[in-house]
Amino acid sequence: MNDFCLRPDALKTEEKIAVARVLDSGNYVLGAEVGAFEDRWAGVCGTRMAVGVANGMDAIEISLRALDIGRGDEVVTTAMTAFATVLAIMRAGATPVLADINPTTGIMDVQSVRRCVTSRTKAIVLVHLYGHVRDMEHWLALSNEYSIPLVEDCAQSHLARFEGQSCGSFGVAGAFSFYPTKNLGAAGDAGAVVTSDDVIAKQARVLRDYGQDGKYHHVSSGLNSRLDELQAALLLARMDWVEEFTERRKDIGAHYQRSLSHPEVGLLAAPAAPENHVYHLFVVLCARRDELCRHLSARGIQSAVHYPLPLHKQPACGGIRCDPSGVPNAERHANYCLSIPCHPDLDDADVESVASAINGFV
Ligand SMILES: *Cc1c(COP(=O)(O)O)cnc(C)c1O
Repeated sequence: MNDFCLRPDALKTEEKIAVARVLDSGNYVLGAEVGAFEDRWAGVCGTRMAVGVANGMDAIEISLRALDIGRGDEVVTTAMTAFATVLAIMRAGATPVLADINPTTGIMDVQSVRRCVTSRTKAIVLVHLYGHVRDMEHWLALSNEYSIPLVEDCAQSHLARFEGQSCGSFGVAGAFSFYPTKNLGAAGDAGAVVTSDDVIAKQARVLRDYGQDGKYHHVSSGLNSRLDELQAALLLARMDWVEEFTERRKDIGAHYQRSLSHPEVGLLAAPAAPENHVYHLFVVLCARRDELCRHLSARGIQSAVHYPLPLHKQPACGGIRCDPSGVPNAERHANYCLSIPCHPDLDDADVESVASAINGFV
C-alpha cells in the first residue's frame, strides 16, 4: 500500500540537507522552519494563515476550540471517517453527532446532516474522504442557511480543488494531517490549521502552546501541540514534490476508473473534474470483500479497509448520537469497502497488474 523507501533519490538528498540544516541551527521547536512551512502551506491552500500543530487530530480539536466550541455544544460529522475526527470533537469537550454517507461517494450526505442539526449544533466537520472534494456549493449553502460554521477535515485531501479553489479554504478553518501515509507526509507526526480568520489563527497559536498568549502568560488550558523544526523542514523539502506526486495519484485513479470492470466490484463516483480528487485512497466496493482481499493477497497485492467499522460501532463511541433515520449507507460501506494500492511510486505496469488481478476475481 505504501513503501516510503521508494521515493526518488533526489528527494532523499534534499531531505538530508533539510535535516542537517535543522541540526546545525540549534532550534528545534516552533522556529524559522515552522514559520516558512506555515507561509508556504497557507499559500498552497489559498488561506491567509496556517498554524503548524503536532498532528491532524489536534488540528481538528484546535480548530473547534478556537471557535469556542466545547461542553454542551454539538458537532455533526460523518460516521465513515478516521476515529481521529470524532476523538478530536470529544477531546474539545463537545458532543459528536454522526451523519450518514452518500453511498455513491462515501462522503457525508447533506440531507442526513440536516436531520442531525439541532439548536445546539455549533459546527459541521466535513471530511473530504479518500481525497475527494465535491458539492461545496451545497455545503456552503447549508452552513449559511443554519449559520453553523464549516470546518474541513483535509487529512486526506492535500491539494484537492473545487472550481479552482483549494480545500481548507471553504470553511472557517481547515485541518490537515501530515502523518507519513498522507499525500504530504512528514517523517513522524505533524499537522496544520489553515484559516483566513485572524481570531481563529490567533487562538490556534495560543492553544497549540499551553494556552499562552505571551511567554509564561496562560489565558486558556491549551495543549502541547507544537510542530518540530525537523518535521517542518522535511515538509518543506517534500512540498517541492507533492504536486508531481498528486498528479501521479490522479493518473492512477483515472487508470483504475477506466480499467476496473468486474461485475461484482463497484466503483465510487468519479470526480466531476480531475482537480476534485487527489486519490489519497482508491476504494472499491465488493460484497465478497474479504475474499477479494485474499485473492489479491495470493497475487502479492496488498489491500486494506478504510474503515471496517462505522464510528458508532466503535467500542469507544458507545451511546453516540446518529442521524435519527440511522446510518445504513455507512454500515453497508464498512462491510464492502476495500482500498487497493494507489501511491505515486506505482508505475503503469503495477496499476495494470492490480486491475487485471481484480478483473480476474472468481
Ligand atoms: C489521518 C486522519 C486524521 C488524523 O490525523 P493524525 O495526524 O493521524 O492525527 C483525521 N481525519 C482523517 C480523515 C484522517 O485520515
